[in-house]
Amino acid sequence: MKAAVDPDLCTGCELCVDTCPEVFEMDDDVAKAIVDVVPEDVEDAAVEAAESCPAEAITIE
Ligand code: SF4
Repeated sequence: MKAAVDPDLCTGCELCVDTCPEVFEMDDDVAKAIVDVVPEDVEDAAVEAAESCPAEAITIE
């Protein structure tokens, strides 16, 4: 599983960082994914972060 943040959509609310800090980190005013592959033990949290993102800026594949 991979996760990506579209910096053009991200509003910097930090919700994904709170939900899944193993995968998402703030980079100035926007979030970014800090791993190439989402670790299995945090896949659920990564999906929750994507589904909770108010800007729909997170892509999971
Ligand atoms: S939850 Fe969405 S809008 Fe908020 S920081 Fe994360 S990617 Fe950006």
